[in-house]
Amino acid sequence: MVFDSKFRNTLENIIHNTPHDPYTLPVSKEAFLKIHFQNSDSTSNLEDGIWPVLPFAESDICQVHIIKWRRLSAVEANCKPVYEVDFDITDSSINFKPGDTIGILPTNTDTEVDFIISHLGLNAVKNMNYSLSIENGKKGKIPQHIPASSTIQHVLKHCVDLRGLFKKMFLLHLSRFTEQELERRILEYLCSKEGSNDYTIYILEKRLSLCDIFHLFPSCKPPVQILFEHLPRLLPRPYSIANSPQVNPNIVRICFSVMETGVERKGLTTGWLEDIISNDMNITMKTLSLDDTPNESPRVPIYLRKNVNNFVLPDHDKPIILIGPGTGVSPFIGFLQERESFKNEQILGSAWLFFGCRNAELDYIYKEELERFLQNGVLSKLCTAFSRSNNCEFKYVQDAIYAHGEEVVKLLRVGAYVYLAGDVKNIATQVKDVLIQCIAKHNNCSKDEAKEYLTNLEKNKRYLVDIWN
Ligand code: NAP
Repeated sequence: MVFDSKFRNTLENIIHNTPHDPYTLPVSKEAFLKIHFQNSDSTSNLEDGIWPVLPFAESDICQVHIIKWRRLSAVEANCKPVYEVDFDITDSSINFKPGDTIGILPTNTDTEVDFIISHLGLNAVKNMNYSLSIENGKKGKIPQHIPASSTIQHVLKHCVDLRGLFKKMFLLHLSRFTEQELERRILEYLCSKEGSNDYTIYILEKRLSLCDIFHLFPSCKPPVQILFEHLPRLLPRPYSIANSPQVNPNIVRICFSVMETGVERKGLTTGWLEDIISNDMNITMKTLSLDDTPNESPRVPIYLRKNVNNFVLPDHDKPIILIGPGTGVSPFIGFLQERESFKNEQILGSAWLFFGCRNAELDYIYKEELERFLQNGVLSKLCTAFSRSNNCEFKYVQDAIYAHGEEVVKLLRVGAYVYLAGDVKNIATQVKDVLIQCIAKHNNCSKDEAKEYLTNLEKNKRYLVDIWN
């Protein structure tokens, strides 16, 4: 259990030392959803076609198998797992090019769904068909991501984000269904004006989930329609495609690191994919030991996303500068594979990659591929930065870019396209700042002029960023 009695004690102590009861609570709307169960088990599920509208969809949803996978980072305790997986898209409607992304539709874990169902005493009705309506005389709409008729099990598994950030209004509604006095007061405090700072510290920063709340406050037992009213939609997660259809159009490859979400909990999609891989490993072991277990891994629902950023390769003779720390390198592996497949037919412009990771021995992913691209001329130059190694020339990719600023700016003058894949908060801003510094220094211009230069590159789609949250 992530949030234990120690955490609960901390919250209790805060309440004891905060003599503000009654607290200033947010103005709330009355609960409005009514649920009615029909006395028959449902057979409906997502695979029968009840999908909400998908963000940026370019294809239908395809249920695909992982046909190959490998771990790209070292298997060591101090090294974040990074995997590459191949999805079999034969016969699917996915028609991709390098730089495209796919959306993966995650599902909530059975552990979390089962816990909520049993905590709320819903085992008897979890697979019964329900229909939702609005309570007489109340105002409200059935949220778009909640089917008006389905089953609780289905909604909790596929439709709602059980780990989404808690809004104060949700806490307030939960407090109303919390029988135990102290538990109710803590919940009220956390959504009150007086508890605003502690709400940020203990709810938002700790990323408390619904299961955490139920574990911490066992007498909190809202009717399920309160969850339907407040839980946000379980959204698909985007991943860059890391291969070229020129090599194999029937495979979509992604690479991902298994994220820890700050509370010793793995990311929903990456954790799920890792579980599939581990089960696959177990199945393979059993198969080797001639066990009769059928070799069937679960299907993963994926779809092709619109390439709204125009993150595509220019003509092959144009120079390109690629900047991708960590798994940010994945779209560039697809770019370089694509160029490699044309290298005997077309003249290739120069290609320069800035790659960064923590340690050359641990998480230098795609090292072999990059060295091959260097050897066969698909990649003209490779600059690496290792952020947690001693005696390394560069810590971050932007340090390497700055050191090679003169050559970078020269390439820009002859029409290079710059691509950056990284996280929106830090890497994207810092790389942009460094590019501006380099342009100002080597084009002998002011910072404002350098900014304008970069803005023009953006307008002309020669500075393209694929940023991730
Ligand atoms: P990671 O292992 O956390 O980081 C890779 C390297 O980047 C590390 O050396 C890290 O250094 C460094 N770094 C940290 N902050 C930086 C900064 N402000 N500027 C430059 N470098 C910095 O990376 P990851 O988990 O693979 O993720 C890389 C990024 O690419 C993420 O934002 C991810 O969302 C994004 N991305 C992912 C995909 C995909 O499909 N998986 C595609 C495109 C982009 P330290 O940690 O040692 O400080």
